[in-house]
Amino acid sequence: FEGLLEEARIVARSLADAAASTLDPTIRLGVTGLSRAGKTVFLTALVQALVHGGRLPAFRAYAQGRIAGARLAPQPDDAVPRFEVETHLRALTGPDRTWPESTRRISELRVVVDFESRGFFSGTRPGRRLTLDIVDYPGEWLLDLALLGQDFRTWSARTILSSDGPTRTPLAGPWRAHLATIDPLAAEDESVAREAAARFTAYLRAGRADRVALSTLPPGRFLMPGDLEGSPALTFAPLEIPAEGDAPSGSMWSMMERRYEAYRSHIVRPFFRDHFARLDRQVVLVDALAALNAGPEAVADLEAALTDVLSAFRHGQNSWLSSLFRPRVDRLLFAATKADHLHHTSHDRLEAILRRLVGRAIEKAEFSGAAVDVVALAAVRATREGTVRQGREELPVIIGVPERGEGSGGQSFDGDEEIAVFPGDLPADPEIALRSGGYRGRAVSEADGDLRFVKFRPPLLSATDRPATLPHIRLDRTLEFLIGDALT
Ligand code: GDP
Repeated sequence: FEGLLEEARIVARSLADAAASTLDPTIRLGVTGLSRAGKTVFLTALVQALVHGGRLPAFRAYAQGRIAGARLAPQPDDAVPRFEVETHLRALTGPDRTWPESTRRISELRVVVDFESRGFFSGTRPGRRLTLDIVDYPGEWLLDLALLGQDFRTWSARTILSSDGPTRTPLAGPWRAHLATIDPLAAEDESVAREAAARFTAYLRAGRADRVALSTLPPGRFLMPGDLEGSPALTFAPLEIPAEGDAPSGSMWSMMERRYEAYRSHIVRPFFRDHFARLDRQVVLVDALAALNAGPEAVADLEAALTDVLSAFRHGQNSWLSSLFRPRVDRLLFAATKADHLHHTSHDRLEAILRRLVGRAIEKAEFSGAAVDVVALAAVRATREGTVRQGREELPVIIGVPERGEGSGGQSFDGDEEIAVFPGDLPADPEIALRSGGYRGRAVSEADGDLRFVKFRPPLLSATDRPATLPHIRLDRTLEFLIGDALT
């Protein structure tokens, strides 16, 4: 019965959404990706490009002069926090040039674009309007869809099993050691539950560190709690329980199972029903360079995460519940971010690597239906290119101002001075890059050091760049794929 009610609610809402968009197009665009993938920077740059323009030759409606103007408008959902684009833009373009604060929860922004449509036969028709509702949410939450199809027993077994492996075993050690001391049939004990949850969460966090860069680590709220930080709904962890039978009441097992169920029904389901199921388009940002840097296990993990993401969008018949929450997305874009860490000769290679990964994920998830594309981009380009002579060699380098503080290669940066980094070439053959991990940056102007993880400060804009048009790589192509068809 609850399922029917849920279905009725969703049908009613999609009718309302459809009625609102019959005259002029409305698109609900989801922006997601794991933490640090670049969601905040991407969305800030995208809105800035729509509202203030820039160098966007591949964004056709703009290049053809058919966009009369774009502006922010009040968002439709009162209960969702607003994406604070002004604050983020001030951080990026202010005198200190810092990266904005990252996404930690869902937020929303409406942009209204006035445009002239191209007539079917000839001429243009002015006075058209596209309403773009952009929803930014942590990718960690998206991977929770898998939990809807797993009971506590299945989830526990899978999570414990997947914590074995060369990278994961050492990270999971402290949690697994504690797990071995828990008797699931013993009387429930809050302090044991808290300790288990704390150690389990620490394991998930460790998997997201720079040099590890694992991607598949649900439950998502353990990593990105949003408003649930410190809430008892997150005080559970997998248990080693018998393969059959029910939890005795009052046991550790029944307590953890109850909390797991509460997590699914009060946190995961409402997110998919209220937000995810309503999306028309989706961009998934991927820090593919971080995975390539960290090595083959991180890459394999990224591929598994992409497969999960694709199956979240597949119009399949899995369980009736999860298929109910699947949105009717007709365009899905995977974007490798921070391409400005590479020389432009490697941009196509990065794209090819992601295309290969997504292609394999498409096969595994048996995905079909939506148009899927791939791009390598930098929403905000923080580097420029140059060449440096080393002996008889001309090295293509990228040049930028490193972020202040300790670089992860042990160097310390404190000034405004630029450094040149030889980013290394990505292998031309995506298979080789995926097998070996492809990207090895090193310094050429500083003493040699591991510069794979160097972060650059946002670019210095010239006085003529105000209101700021931010330099980017392939943001225009991204806009064209995501909304270009609605502006014709
Ligand atoms: P989120 O967690 O997905 O919201 O990620 P953010 O948008 O906050 O980005 C995380 C970090 O990645 C930023 O603080 C920057 O250091 C870096 N970053 C994101 N986008 C870009 C980009 O286009 N170019 C460069 N060089 N760095 C970026």
